[in-house]
Amino acid sequence: MAEHRFIPADCGTCAFWKRANEQGGSCRRYAPHPVGSVNEVAHWPRTHEADLCGEWSAQLDGGRVLCRACVYWRHPIDGIHPLQREDQSSDWWSSAGHCLRFAARPSSEPGFRAFWRVTHSSDGCFEGKRRDLERRVPNEQ
Ligand code: SF4
Ligand code: SF4
Repeated sequence: MAEHRFIPADCGTCAFWKRANEQGGSCRRYAPHPVGSVNEVAHWPRTHEADLCGEWSAQLDGGRVLCRACVYWRHPIDGIHPLQREDQSSDWWSSAGHCLRFAARPSSEPGFRAFWRVTHSSDGCFEGKRRDLERRVPNEQ
């Protein structure tokens, strides 16, 4: 009979996870997709360190790419000036830009207008592409 080895795995040991506090963090596996409203802030999904999904991965080559170092990030020179600041400060918006990583997907709604979502310069994900090697950071926990 084949022998199966149990490999303990959870978000806390996943290369895609960014720790935020003692037990919680966020999954940085994916970049945000465009949506139907302007200047919507991207929030990465929060997970507990004991959670797990089928995309768990051990250490990857390199690390998470910071938005400010990513070729897909467009940052207006004086930041973004939204009509609604949501729960972010004006300082936050001055260091914000749009993530252009993905094209918008077709919609069932005629005339659907796509808008790219907003991230902060210090955000980042594993679907970014660094502009240079020096600005890629390890996936610090
Ligand atoms: S949800 Fe999956 S991919 Fe994301 S951190 Fe947890 S195990 Fe990793
Ligand atoms: S690192 Fe790049 S792809 Fe990822 S969220 Fe930031 S701008 Fe988008």
